[in-house]
Amino acid sequence: MNQQQKNNKQTKYSDKLKDPRWQKVRLKVFECDEWTCQICFDQESQLKVPYKYYLQGKDPWDYPLEALTTPCEKCHTEKWENPPEAEHALMRALKEKRFFAPDGQSLADGVGKMERLHSPEVVASAYEWALETPEIQHWLPDRYFEGMKQKARGNVP
Ligand SMILES: [Zn+2]
Repeated sequence: MNQQQKNNKQTKYSDKLKDPRWQKVRLKVFECDEWTCQICFDQESQLKVPYKYYLQGKDPWDYPLEALTTPCEKCHTEKWENPPEAEHALMRALKEKRFFAPDGQSLADGVGKMERLHSPEVVASAYEWALETPEIQHWLPDRYFEGMKQKARGNVP
């Protein structure tokens, strides 16, 4: 995509945010969240309506209400515009557990192949739970080795 195409795309997106259909959805989100920042519960500052997760090919007004939330401007900047804190935390945790670049690539490939069964918020919480649950920590490698054995025997394509 060249700069001109990028500019056109950005213009189109900012036009979409002026669309009355989006304005209506936005107001509904504010009402549902009682005009309160859902992170720090501030009721004074200007509020934003970002996506909790992206849905490819959807227009802003086609997002379900549960995919939208109401942070104040300060929380929006911290959580949506400057998210490297979470990225650093993830990388730090991987390094502390001695995962190196090829391991990171394996994890990234796995995430890339995941089916979208629930919202990323639910999936992330479920994985957090799974990763900290001892039975699952033991069960998963056992299941993996079993799968590899079956593959070696030619039972799995
Ligand atoms: Zn806030």
